[in-house]
Amino acid sequence: MRIAIAQVDGKWPNLALAKYARWGADNGHEVFRYDPAVHRRGDLVIASKIFTDTPDDPSLPPGAYSGGSGYSLRTSLAPEVEALRPDWSLWPEWDRDMGFTTRGCVRRCPFCIVPQKEGGIRIVAEFGDIWTGRPEVTLLDNNLTAAPIEHFRGVFADARKARVKLVFGAGALDARLWSNEHQAIVKEFSPVLRRFHFAFDAIRDEKAVRRLISMWTVAGMHPDRLVFFVLVGYDTTPEEDAYRVNLLISLRVNPFVMPFDRTDHYQARLARWCNSVVARKQCSFEEFSEQARRKIRAEAMS
Ligand code: SF4
Repeated sequence: MRIAIAQVDGKWPNLALAKYARWGADNGHEVFRYDPAVHRRGDLVIASKIFTDTPDDPSLPPGAYSGGSGYSLRTSLAPEVEALRPDWSLWPEWDRDMGFTTRGCVRRCPFCIVPQKEGGIRIVAEFGDIWTGRPEVTLLDNNLTAAPIEHFRGVFADARKARVKLVFGAGALDARLWSNEHQAIVKEFSPVLRRFHFAFDAIRDEKAVRRLISMWTVAGMHPDRLVFFVLVGYDTTPEEDAYRVNLLISLRVNPFVMPFDRTDHYQARLARWCNSVVARKQCSFEEFSEQARRKIRAEAMS
């Protein structure tokens, strides 16, 4: 059979599709990237989309098998496909490994699809199950801090043994669950991961964020290695957004604004300013906003 793999959105290779590519190749099928010009009637087309606001690919044939959170939160990979190592050969530019060692989460943040899509936290793989020998592994775990501490330690220890660099993908660590054991582990295996990503989504988490940064510095680790995702535009005011961003800057860690609505001008502008160290050093957000307004006025008048 000919299997066409269609990735509708996303900058990175689609993990589910890479697993279907492995499944197809292991079962003797011809697997290729979907291209309307190459696609033939009768080919099995497997499409995936991760964002709900991405338009569908209008060229996809009726009957294409579609999945991913952009289509539905109810679809999931067949267990025999989920268990496979991805095959990255359809994405030749991709030079890392990527995968989940845990799925789900212990929390139920109302803006997040993970609880609905994946349920409670559970271990689904060990480091060795997602590593195919590449020098860098992107972990997609939603909340690795919520996994048993032995699993947390195992991921870091295995990465060091394999001499592999770890990178966190979309997920983050959880400041509210951070313990002395987590701190000792990251200190021991510190070289395997350059940046550690946490979230600071609400002011009520300030105490946990401060506690984490304090543990970090007491352990002798540089706070510059901490990145905090700052969700804006969901249930916070601009004043609360500014408070969280400025607090993180004052504590010498890195804020990274995540707009809830990517089409909202204020949210997008705050992200452009905050996520650029150069822009932050050059001016305040108010000045940055004023410059943007002036530019819009000038363009409208020309
Ligand atoms: S902690 Fe993170 S992964 Fe878990 S529900 Fe909240 S946002 Fe989602």
